[in-house]
Amino acid sequence: MSHREPKDPQGRRMPFMYEPPLRGGANPSSKREGTAPGSFALPPGVGTPLAFSSPDTPGMPAPSEKTAWDFNPAPRGEKNAVTQLERARLGTITPEMKRAAEREPHLAPEDVRGEIVAGRMIIPANRAHLRCGLDPIAIGRAATTKINANLGASPVKSSADEEVEKMRWAVRWGADTVMDLSTGGDLDATREAIIRSAPVPVGTVPVYSMIVGRAIEDLSHADILRTIEHQAMQGVDFITIHAGLLREHLPYVRGRVSGIVSRGGSLLAKWMIHHGRQNPFYDLFDEICDIARAHDVSFSLGDGLRPGSLADATDEAQLRELYVLGELVERAWAKGVQTMVEGPGHIPLDQIEYNMKIERALCHGAPFYVLGPLVTDVFPGYDHITSAIGATAAAYHGAAFLCYVTPKEHLGLPKKRDVKEGCIAYKIAAHAADIALGIPGTRDRDDEISKARAALNWERHIALAFDPDTARAFHDEDLSIDTDFCAMCGHDWCAVRISREIEEFASGKAEGYDPGGPKESPALTPEQRGILEEHGEPLPGEASSPAVGGASRGEKPPCHSDLVRDPKKAREIQERGAGPK
Ligand code: SF4
Repeated sequence: MSHREPKDPQGRRMPFMYEPPLRGGANPSSKREGTAPGSFALPPGVGTPLAFSSPDTPGMPAPSEKTAWDFNPAPRGEKNAVTQLERARLGTITPEMKRAAEREPHLAPEDVRGEIVAGRMIIPANRAHLRCGLDPIAIGRAATTKINANLGASPVKSSADEEVEKMRWAVRWGADTVMDLSTGGDLDATREAIIRSAPVPVGTVPVYSMIVGRAIEDLSHADILRTIEHQAMQGVDFITIHAGLLREHLPYVRGRVSGIVSRGGSLLAKWMIHHGRQNPFYDLFDEICDIARAHDVSFSLGDGLRPGSLADATDEAQLRELYVLGELVERAWAKGVQTMVEGPGHIPLDQIEYNMKIERALCHGAPFYVLGPLVTDVFPGYDHITSAIGATAAAYHGAAFLCYVTPKEHLGLPKKRDVKEGCIAYKIAAHAADIALGIPGTRDRDDEISKARAALNWERHIALAFDPDTARAFHDEDLSIDTDFCAMCGHDWCAVRISREIEEFASGKAEGYDPGGPKESPALTPEQRGILEEHGEPLPGEASSPAVGGASRGEKPPCHSDLVRDPKKAREIQERGAGPK
């Protein structure tokens, strides 16, 4: 029976009956070869509230018409301008803006300055940290999506050296910033050590160190200001302060499944109940702004009432706090402080767009920094995945900065392996969103690796992988030779190889690539062997490695390309199902 193609009433062949998504028509393409702008994204719109944004589903809150410029007090003179925001307002392009733009090939320094003036972008760069090796980055919708890795010693396990090592490890796996959330050991020494060694911005939650050696109830206004000033002088680039959680919000928490799950939020709620007074961070906000401004510490306005379960998502407690965070953004901007806003938490997939867009409206486009969000609650041990799904949607719909979640979330203190898995999950989320948003240049590497894959060019395929060691180890686990198939399907069923043989297709015709026959892959490095060991699989050639294709345990199957280089011969052996003669 022949295939039925759609025809019009006159019997003419109709074009494909569904409109494909717009592919680049309204978006400028990159100068780089290969990048196509996002399919469904709006045009880039740098310099507008819609910079690299998703189209609004009907009913979404519209962007605010205000920007940080609307909260610009009488401009300070050049000599008195301290923060990147104040200097941008005067028209200055700072070395940090230039460096941040260099790292975003689609942005000019003027774009970075313009977005900072609007409050839609920040460069978290404490002057003290800049003096000891900070390499500045930009966080904002017009920039590529950034990820944060949380570190920190706990009272159960603590060591400054271990945390510095974890910081280096997180940066190796793509963390754009780190937060030191230590609650145990020598907090001051750990923070100092991390700042002195970190090329990336370092954030903290100062309330944690305020309660070391004292009960939260004993915390005074003076303690709060003293601690923030000390950390600002040390070189902390951004601080989370839970100033938006007010006494008036506490009754809205009563009906929640998970109550208050933010550490800072729960501590401050306890303080307010004990003293019968307003949140001290709210009361001291102007003084805290003055300290932050003096050192150019950026704010990350904490969401002390973020939902800790799907059942609590987008509830009144969360939204009332967000409303106050919008007010605090305006006050911080008026004081010249760079500001971002923290977001939830645990949010079902269908509520993520709303959450991103209500923040955009209430906080006038200040960069949104989200933890996940987790889109389901029943996968402890895999919350780097549940949250990376939410983070991808969040980054597509409005978040600029993603705080990673590791497999240890809700369960324990992350170790090095968890840090790596969390970072990679979030690099995937950020990168996937950037591609979908059409940020120029972001898809180039994907296109390159696809060409290498189609050409069965294993060396290049693996070199372009984000984690080449894992890619090489997994490839060599069953077939330690680079040839025109892999162990997944074998020679006869390799669709890529077959596709290359079909003359009509361009597949696998990557310019200039000549495989020149099978190549023995180099022996696995110790690191690559370690990956397989951690993976729980026997190493290639080990006596306990699984039997493949009729071979005895520990032996390669007789048709294995390590043993039979000639594809014809390999095919014969496969057909006979017997060993080489
Ligand atoms: S054998 Fe299968 S998985 Fe491997 S390259 Fe060919 S088609 Fe891809």
